[in-house]
Amino acid sequence: MAGLGDAEIVIVGGGAIGAAAADALARSGRRDILLIEKEPSLAAVTTAQAAGLVGQVRSSIDRVKLAMWSVATFAELERQDEARPSWRQVGSLRIAVTPERADEFKRLCQVAAEAGLEAELIDAAAARRLWPGMRLDEAKAVLWCPSDGYLQPHDLTMAYQHRARAHGVRFATGVRLERIHLEHGRVTGVGTSQGEIRCEMVINAAGAHAYHVARLVGLDLPIVPVRHEYLVSVPLAGIRPDLPAFRVPDQTLYGRPDVNSLLLGGWEPEALSLDPRSYAIEETPPSIVEDWPVLSNFAELMRPIFPPIGEAGVRHVFSGWPTFTPDGRFIIGESGRVKGFVMAGGCNAHGVSGSAGIGRHLVEALAEQKPSAYVRSLSPDRFTETSWDWSDARRKAQAIYETYYAIGH
Ligand SMILES: Cc1cc2nc3c(=O)[nH]c(=O)nc-3n(C[C@H](O)[C@H](O)[C@H](O)COP(=O)(O)OP(=O)(O)OC[C@H]3O[C@@H](n4cnc5c(N)ncnc54)[C@H](O)[C@@H]3O)c2cc1C
Repeated sequence: MAGLGDAEIVIVGGGAIGAAAADALARSGRRDILLIEKEPSLAAVTTAQAAGLVGQVRSSIDRVKLAMWSVATFAELERQDEARPSWRQVGSLRIAVTPERADEFKRLCQVAAEAGLEAELIDAAAARRLWPGMRLDEAKAVLWCPSDGYLQPHDLTMAYQHRARAHGVRFATGVRLERIHLEHGRVTGVGTSQGEIRCEMVINAAGAHAYHVARLVGLDLPIVPVRHEYLVSVPLAGIRPDLPAFRVPDQTLYGRPDVNSLLLGGWEPEALSLDPRSYAIEETPPSIVEDWPVLSNFAELMRPIFPPIGEAGVRHVFSGWPTFTPDGRFIIGESGRVKGFVMAGGCNAHGVSGSAGIGRHLVEALAEQKPSAYVRSLSPDRFTETSWDWSDARRKAQAIYETYYAIGH
């Protein structure tokens, strides 16, 4: 076909996940890969809006290890001569304001230790030395993870692209996937806005359109967009880019320095989700208007710990529709029903920090040797081989968002 040429693997979507998949597959030895992105540039949709926090402290060993793999990759990419992810390994503080949360932190430290991640409980004086402007007198515990940090999601995507290109991956922007061709239950090609492409495998990394791309091969997958937003304050005295990231889970808050400003986000208890069937593959999800009551509440909740945020002006609001799944887990791997159709999505709002780990698990899922039990548990087949209904799936996916920082999540 004219222009694009055929490929063994077509990746649909040029956000953090598609680019990480391209990088990981190319580095595993796959050579003939074409990534298509409908927008004029990569990282233009959800990835462009992400806060870029990278946290490795999680409640299961598998998830800690996935995040550790991401961090190792970010450090590696930061050493590239060009196209670096702007990775800042400034560490992170997790602040408990209830005794139950302090108990959870002890359990999280144990999980971290078992996974080989350094994380420790520190006293308020040590935490104040790390973030001098914070008031931590009421804190019941502070968990410090020195290898956490933050990056610029757009730069990360460019860094993946740079390395993948060096391994022969082709990238085509302004190309929209419209059809997927099957013969005898196998992928044989795709139809795009720029013509036909023969291929053996399609990787669905289409973010808030992943549901629609799966429908093109007749699969129903519960990939539910849920609105998420955060604010960036005007510059505030005492904030420097080398301060740690932070999370206050009892108040559902997270944040980090953004040069000399404070980036502050959170998980609201009554989220706004979308039924992906309400918009078509060629349409975009509804645009988001700043929800000032929600954003002001983040600032109010943060004020006792960092008083200047109470009076601070807002410089910018970022928002988007990250996707959630009813069980809060990624969807990674080939469909047992449609050979050559592969999922890389359902990121539950950690698609940037998880991207390198997701790329690694994708390689494992597609390798000839049997993947680990964890990787097998992420297969799309868990939704196509069981029955579920949309209203229940949407309710559960939304609840994953609403309880993001709940103890034991
Ligand atoms: C406000 C906010 C803050 C966040 N903060 C963090 C954070 O701190 N850390 C973190 O890890 N995650 C964070 N996230 C979540 C993170 O942004 C997502 O998990 C991640 O960006 C998902 O990447 P993606 O590649 O799957 O999706 P996207 O970036 O949306 O990429 C999908 C791409 O597919 C393309 N596409 C869709 N349909 C087609 C088609 N038919 N043909 C061709 N291309 C197509 C789209 O144009 C898009 O570019 C945040 C999200 C939001 C909204």
